Amino acid sequence: MTSPLCTDVLIVGGGIAGLWLNARLRRQGFSTLLVENASLGGGQSLKSQGIIHGGAKYALHGALSGASEAIADMPRRWREALAGTGELDLSGVRVLSDAHYLWSPGTLAGNLSSFLASKAVRSRVDQVKGADLPPALQHPKFKGKVYRLNELVLDVPSLIERLSLLAGDSLLAAQQIEVLRSTTSEPAEPAELSGQAEQSAQADPREPTELTKPAELLGLRLDGREVRAQRIVLSAGAGNAQLLADLGIRQPSMQRRPLHMVLVKGPGLKPLYAHCLGGGPKPRVTITSHPAADGQWVWYLGGDLAEAAGVARDEHAQIRAAQQELTQLLPWIDLSTAQWATLRVDRAEPAQSSLGRPDNAFLAEQGSLLVGWPTKLALAPDFADRVLAALARDGIQPGPPSTRPDLPRPPLGQPIWMSLLP
Ligand code: FAD
Repeated sequence: MTSPLCTDVLIVGGGIAGLWLNARLRRQGFSTLLVENASLGGGQSLKSQGIIHGGAKYALHGALSGASEAIADMPRRWREALAGTGELDLSGVRVLSDAHYLWSPGTLAGNLSSFLASKAVRSRVDQVKGADLPPALQHPKFKGKVYRLNELVLDVPSLIERLSLLAGDSLLAAQQIEVLRSTTSEPAEPAELSGQAEQSAQADPREPTELTKPAELLGLRLDGREVRAQRIVLSAGAGNAQLLADLGIRQPSMQRRPLHMVLVKGPGLKPLYAHCLGGGPKPRVTITSHPAADGQWVWYLGGDLAEAAGVARDEHAQIRAAQQELTQLLPWIDLSTAQWATLRVDRAEPAQSSLGRPDNAFLAEQGSLLVGWPTKLALAPDFADRVLAALARDGIQPGPPSTRPDLPRPPLGQPIWMSLLP
């Protein structure tokens, strides 16, 4: 056992939330260490569709609520970062599409325009036609209406790579993460949020949710190396549940929302980034397109197709369902030689009533411990804001630079289509 090392902020989990926060803290002069037990981005982040939502999709459920203001500002903040002029320098990150589209197949076109007219969609929503249509929809047989949303789609592998560069030498790989407490502070009973069986993700960013029982954490032991920190942030996605259990903390509780995504690769596919609307409040299918190493495009299919009914189907039935959707919606696309795969993945979020969908980042805290979920890749800046606000409120200032323990650097996660559709 070596003597403990000290850092200002110790972050657990190297997905988008931890990596973005790490880069922001370092930019503000804080010393940081980030520990990852698998691969950077390899949890949900590299399995996401990379859409930087601005709230338009969520307006499908009605007008944007006050709590969704944070999401409305995300496209601007990401665009500035991508231009190198924002809160982080993300220049070099690949933008797959400068816009995401709302697309209504022929039969529903009327519904879409009246739908849009009736909603408080904050970003500009312009109808596009002819040569301005996404390449995959430019076909004489295409019928329907398409609207352009001010939402970017990013190549997440290049984003994770860029954030790992901004992390300098702060990234650590460790498997065994143990809690380091002051000797008197072992909680006898599991701690939890007072009077809240179910927390809400609608809290104001300046007022983080409090854990009732102080977890008097001094730091963590990472594969036997003690690291002490002024603050410890758990941003381990689905891993937060086990970390909280290890700390003896019952709340905030986490929900998993299972998805059964479909991937298809073929020479006939052209880029498409769109929510295709059905009759219901959720997109019938959400399609994003990702470049494979062999130069072909992989379509990654989510939306309603991947939710409850899709989760209940086995892999073969899910592929058949996706084939039927694409054949019905885009009959001119040749899928005869396409390769297909599915991916089961859970979204990890703070527990919500009726598995609802949170629309801002969530942070709970007590003493030196902070724990949260961004709830969306797009909301990573909002997650970092909440942590920074908590540090500012507590008067936490940057201290001396931390010394890196002798642990290896975690590897970068790989794009899922590389393993699923080689
Ligand atoms: P993760 O990316 O899961 O990262 C957590 C990290 O912590 C992982 O690297 C994991 O290995 C590590 N870890 C876990 N336990 C431990 C431990 N004990 N010690 C150390 N490290 C640990 N959001 C959008 O905004 N736009 C989209 O288009 C979008 N599409 C999505 C599509 C799908 C299929 C899914 C599943 C999600 C999508 N999301 C999207 C949501 C988004 O991906 C997540 O909200 C976001 O990536 C969560 O980031 P995170 O850093 O909290 O978690």
